[in-house]
Amino acid sequence: MKGGIDFHTHPVLVREMVERYPDLAKAARDTFHCGNNFQPLEVMLAEMDIAGIDKAVVLPIDATTSRNATVYTNEQIVELCSLSDRLIGFASVDPHQNSAPATLETAINMLGLHGLKLAPAMQEFFPDDRMAYPVYECAQALGIPILFHAGLSWEPGSRLKYGHPLRFEDVAADFPKLNIVLAHLAWPWVVDAVALALKYPNVHLDVSALYFDNPRDFLRYAMTQQVPLTVFERSLRRQVLFGSDNPRIEIKSMARAVRSLGFSDECLELIFRINAERLLGERS
Ligand SMILES: [Zn+2]
Repeated sequence: MKGGIDFHTHPVLVREMVERYPDLAKAARDTFHCGNNFQPLEVMLAEMDIAGIDKAVVLPIDATTSRNATVYTNEQIVELCSLSDRLIGFASVDPHQNSAPATLETAINMLGLHGLKLAPAMQEFFPDDRMAYPVYECAQALGIPILFHAGLSWEPGSRLKYGHPLRFEDVAADFPKLNIVLAHLAWPWVVDAVALALKYPNVHLDVSALYFDNPRDFLRYAMTQQVPLTVFERSLRRQVLFGSDNPRIEIKSMARAVRSLGFSDECLELIFRINAERLLGERS
């Protein structure tokens, strides 16, 4: 199998960037609540090697209005990506700001980023709030995917109500050419997220979910018991993406967990690489 793509990583511990921008250390601790040690980028790349992962999507979060915080600016993501051609940079914008669509356009067309990350619970907006529609219109016109944090939000002070899958239905229906990815299988609402994906082919799910036990036992519960594996294998094989949520979870243990579930080789190839390539390559 050719190397895969990890569609969901947060580069908050990359030492080279923290040394250049000390504010990133504060963002990692206070906004992202990640207590692990800062490490050279090569540690992440080595972890990808072990997991059979070739490239990783790196995600910023712009929570300026809600928390007066930015975990990586779009420019810093570009700088990070200049350190390795194995990183695929996404942008983030603050949907509360009128300038958000213009910021997104700049990030994609001028800075060369490849997609958009939004985290409704952290940014405090409902995905189907019309306030955010100009951003979706812009993303659809640019031909880029949006990766939404969905499901449970663990940050203290955040509200669960922003992450329910059904709050994404209007977005999926009103922007049929916009590819959206609901992160973390929108756990615990996996059944609802699957219903959405079954109905809307532009809705995708990333598997970077872990809220108890270990990746293998957790995914076994979510992807064989909450919803039978055959539903993912037969009906959603083109809508499931591998993601780890690194550094919260080791890429290799998440990859091993997905490979242990019983998917066919053909389906694993879609989940680990082909679906991500399609989403990333759809820019006209
Ligand atoms: Zn995440």
